[in-house]
Amino acid sequence: ASLSAPAAKRVLLARPRGYCAGVDRAVITVEEALKLYGAPVYVRKQIVHNKHVVATLEAKGAIFVEENAEVPAGATVVFSAHGVAPEVHEQARQRRLRAIDATCPLVTKVHHEARRFAADDYDILLIGHEGHEEVIGTAGEAPAHIQLVDGPDDVDKVNVRDPEKVVWLSQTTLSVDETMETVARLKERLPLLQSPPSDDICYATQNRQQAVKEIAADCDVMIVVGSRNSSNSVRLVEVALDAGSRASHLVDYAHEIEDAWLDGATSVGLTSGASVPEDLVSEVLDHLAARGFTDVTEVTSATEKLTFALPQELRRDMKAAA
Ligand code: SF4
Repeated sequence: ASLSAPAAKRVLLARPRGYCAGVDRAVITVEEALKLYGAPVYVRKQIVHNKHVVATLEAKGAIFVEENAEVPAGATVVFSAHGVAPEVHEQARQRRLRAIDATCPLVTKVHHEARRFAADDYDILLIGHEGHEEVIGTAGEAPAHIQLVDGPDDVDKVNVRDPEKVVWLSQTTLSVDETMETVARLKERLPLLQSPPSDDICYATQNRQQAVKEIAADCDVMIVVGSRNSSNSVRLVEVALDAGSRASHLVDYAHEIEDAWLDGATSVGLTSGASVPEDLVSEVLDHLAARGFTDVTEVTSATEKLTFALPQELRRDMKAAA
């Protein structure tokens, strides 16, 4: 009788995954601010929506607060990658805070679009998730002109002054497919609706969703590493299901993977959200390998080379200190 070992079970590893250029820049901003000014450095809101990143920076001396009012007058505060409304900059000025703005340049781009269309007196339909920090920041650029549309079911409540002067913009981390569905529904009501001058859903969000789509149909289960409050990570879980993965789970850490999820599975998909360090993915690979999933294939659907310069106020101080 043959005593050959059972075939190795496989992992399909999506690429691109993990850190995007905006997250990388935001995390380095806090690290460099700690080196330059010394601890504590205050950070308004989670710098990026990842539990592990926040805990790591806390251990290095960052203090996370919800509002500027919690930051002692004169102290250093970093604004998160998700962006802030103009009034938050104003509060910081009034409290004489040293503010460093780690807003992702691709979020800032959407802020510019909002300001420009508001200045032209457009009604702006901002597609995004109610209560998400990015949406609050973007809407704060022109509150009188912006209405939030939180998915296709919100389309019926939209009310515009002039159907010939209306544009949609969006949060950067939405599902591409769901957003297109929302836009199609909006266009049924508003045939002259204009689109953003360039994609608001950012390259990193689009690429991570595409990478998941390419492997999902071949996966019994998809594991997405990311935090619950990370919009782009939660979207990856949904995209995997829509694209044919039989099950899909979000975990912050490898130890959260339940053995029952892997029961009977021979092919596991693995990816991570844009705010997730690669270490956490490596831990998941180790966890899976210990359970027989040793045949790892990385499936690459795009290559990413984008990087962003650090915030100029930080670069200026780094240069002066050098
Ligand atoms: Fe910027 Fe996109 Fe990353 Fe958000 S997900 S920080 S918009 S690159």
